[in-house]
Amino acid sequence: MQNKPDGNSIRKTFIEFFEKKGHTFVPSSSLVPGGDQTLLFTNAGMVQFKDVFLGLDKRPYSRAVNSQKCMRVAGKHNDLEDVGRDDIHHTFFEMLGNWSFGDYYKKEAVTWAWELLTEVWKLDKTKLWVTCFEDELGEIDADIEAFNAWKEQPGIDPSHILKFGRKDNFWEMADVGPCGPCSEIHIDRGEKFCNKKDDPNHECRVNGNCTRYVELWNLVFMQYNRISPKELIPLPKKHVDTGMGFERIVSVLQDVDSNYKTDLLLPLMDVVLGLTGDSEEGRDRNLTPYRVIADHARAASFLISDGVVPGNIGRNYICRMIIRRAARFGTKLNLHEPFLAKVAQEVIRIYGDAYPGLKKNQATILDNLTREEKRFKKTLDTGLSYLDQMMEENKQSKLISGEAAFELYATHGLPFEITRDIAAENGYKVDEDAYQKAMEQHRIESGAGKEFGPLGGEDAEKYAAFFKEICNSGKLPKEGVIYDPYDASNLEQPILALIQDGDLVDTVSEGDVVEVVLKKTNFYIQSGGQVADTGTIAAKDGSWTITVEDVRKPTTGLIVHLGQVTKGSPMVADTAVTAIDFKRRQDIMRNHTATHLLHAGLRKILGIHVRQAGSLVAPDRLRFDFTHPDGMTKDEIRKVEDFVNQAVLDNKPLHKVEKSLQQAIDEGAMALFGEKYGEQVRTVVIGEEEVTSYELCGGTHVDDTGEIGTFIIISEGSAAAGIRRIEAVTGREAQALIKKRLTQLESTAEKLQVPVDQVEDKLVAVLELEKQLEKENHDLQKKDAFAKYIDAKEKIENVGEIAVLTLYVKEVIPDTLRELADRFKGEIKDGVAVFATTNAKGDPVLLVACTPTVIKKGIKAGDVVNAAAEVVGGRGGGRPDLAQAGGKDATKIEEALEKAKEFVKNKLK
Ligand code: ATP
Ligand code: MG
Repeated sequence: MQNKPDGNSIRKTFIEFFEKKGHTFVPSSSLVPGGDQTLLFTNAGMVQFKDVFLGLDKRPYSRAVNSQKCMRVAGKHNDLEDVGRDDIHHTFFEMLGNWSFGDYYKKEAVTWAWELLTEVWKLDKTKLWVTCFEDELGEIDADIEAFNAWKEQPGIDPSHILKFGRKDNFWEMADVGPCGPCSEIHIDRGEKFCNKKDDPNHECRVNGNCTRYVELWNLVFMQYNRISPKELIPLPKKHVDTGMGFERIVSVLQDVDSNYKTDLLLPLMDVVLGLTGDSEEGRDRNLTPYRVIADHARAASFLISDGVVPGNIGRNYICRMIIRRAARFGTKLNLHEPFLAKVAQEVIRIYGDAYPGLKKNQATILDNLTREEKRFKKTLDTGLSYLDQMMEENKQSKLISGEAAFELYATHGLPFEITRDIAAENGYKVDEDAYQKAMEQHRIESGAGKEFGPLGGEDAEKYAAFFKEICNSGKLPKEGVIYDPYDASNLEQPILALIQDGDLVDTVSEGDVVEVVLKKTNFYIQSGGQVADTGTIAAKDGSWTITVEDVRKPTTGLIVHLGQVTKGSPMVADTAVTAIDFKRRQDIMRNHTATHLLHAGLRKILGIHVRQAGSLVAPDRLRFDFTHPDGMTKDEIRKVEDFVNQAVLDNKPLHKVEKSLQQAIDEGAMALFGEKYGEQVRTVVIGEEEVTSYELCGGTHVDDTGEIGTFIIISEGSAAAGIRRIEAVTGREAQALIKKRLTQLESTAEKLQVPVDQVEDKLVAVLELEKQLEKENHDLQKKDAFAKYIDAKEKIENVGEIAVLTLYVKEVIPDTLRELADRFKGEIKDGVAVFATTNAKGDPVLLVACTPTVIKKGIKAGDVVNAAAEVVGGRGGGRPDLAQAGGKDATKIEEALEKAKEFVKNKLK
């Protein structure tokens, strides 16, 4: 690739081109969309700007340029089945974009795109094609403006400006949200790239679905907000949102025939080549596994870097699935030991400068990959043989049932997508609908809930319509409900709307469940792990009360208080006083601030690889998940606890300040995964001269750490692979815990009849004594057992030529029975002994011994013991000369012994 620009510099050229046109560079947001339940992963550059388009978020710039990390493996955009099989689709990819927020529009967007491609990058104009929107249903206006803008571009071939309908040229991020017509730029890579030459029905053209024409860049003109499948409303302002496939433009500029041959992905395939020892020709003959591994290793590295580690549901499942899928393709190249970490190292080398998070999280990335590969390896073989068996059983139908596919995942760790791959390789199909049903069924049964049901927003449309209605009535500005949870004082205002059973109503009565809409609220909405506030909304005149149990934001702009009418009949327009349960809120604040201190303490004691991976801040406890490979030692736990308590004693002040995201990041603030960060962020700093903690956080906190009172870690354990979980209590709960423990200790001391500080010594002595007594007791019982044995031997009965001894001795340890058996075998030449006792639970234990001569006659200890065990409701096993069994019914022991005797008798007949 001599003289060809490298990938990193191509990204830079794009950004600088638009910076020169007055655009501000905005860093990529996380792959985990902040505060957006409608989306599993960021799938386009516009995700972080969605609220700007809707007029709900403002930025200090009106033009932006960025390179956004995207994942398209779930939901509306899912390219997984193409990945590895073509040269232009990835699971993870970067999207280059330029943005106008109510600033320039179609003409500039078109002109600059053309200028960059043809003047700066000097692409051959005759190879470029563009498309514009024309609605096939005639319902939405055709995009004449864009069409005219293209016509004016220097050197464009007018016959290369095409018109297409909704599927190709109307862009929507999801089922609801901002959308609009778009113009795409395609490149003709030449006839030889067509992969459908053999298909007589194939029309080789733009959007003709072959690999000759590749879509490079999509210019979207945001002008509508879709609020339902049939309804588009105009946006307050018009915007430009463009997305260019970074890997695709790099492949064009590096003049290679595949994204995988660029310097972004080829080195990853080279790592794999180094491991397989294959030649380049060999690789090209068997390209799919190489491509899948390169793609998935890159995607998994970026996911883990953004806090998404392998797991069983939602995003975590996707991470698990792509790692396992890459590992499975590895086995096709004879790579049977974990190898993805080696590929990931190369990912980090290539991308580490553009995405420093990768470098920061290197250890976590490599560790998670290897662990997941090891975990997968454990079950892979049994999974594959089960799948083989399923294919064998369904030879006729060539269909794998959904239940089998679910079983393969649930029991054998084989993700559905891999089952589907393997099935397809063998000419089978998998019943995906039935698989989803089986999965859903299991989730409901196991109580796991719908983590990502129908995109979390079944009712989003309905609430969007309510929102519109309330706004239209003039009661609520279009910016929506004012949310200020940081001032917890009571508010007085009229009720704007009441929602009951999914409908707007004028009034509700005592006992009704209702959602209340107000102009302003300070009830905290669950986010960032912190639970929602509870409290009351009551009539100013005292005539009614609603007890608020939850607060949520069902759609952008709208906040509802969910509760029950506990007195009277509230009506719309009544003056209401809202009051948060302040004691509970204080408990929550203590726990939230303690969570930040805990995070800082863990990083201090365990190292800076520790990153928050999830949290729960509730009134009664806090839970904190973090990346760390091993369990913590007692000493580490104590040190972390001490760290937090020292900060509490130091009574450090907290500063909660809004500033720009960039400034906060530059100052070293810790950003968390899955949080939504706008341009302005709220920062929470603990400590003044010496800063103990600096995080971006929208939660509510105490003013000084002293308010936390006390911090106690109550548990530490594993939450997922490479993730530990700590639970802790503070404040009132910590005091209650201390009190309870002290009381227990005091009452223990009383019972032991010693002062509290001698409890331990006394207990050790008591336990020692107990052990000794137990031993003495055993010795006595053993002595007794042997005496009984001698008795029994004297009265031994013969069955044929065989001496059969049965003996029931109460409550001896199994060892004693074995000693008896040994002695029996030493003393009797031809014999069977059946011993019985009861264990500590009172359940029967049977032991049978047979001498060698008896075994030769076909009598095995195992058979005898099972015959007897059946009587006491048990089973057992062992060697022919010695076998043991347990049982349930001790009252039948004598009967069981008789049965054993009879069994031997019958055997000899
Ligand atoms: P395609 O039809 O090729 O799948 P698209 O219409 O889904 O593309 P857009 O949603 O318009 O693509 O995304 C903008 C740009 O991102 C595309 O023009 C393309 O260059 C790039 N792109 C889209 N999907 C992928 C992917 N899975 N891998 C790599 N690049 C992609
Ligand atoms: Mg696509």
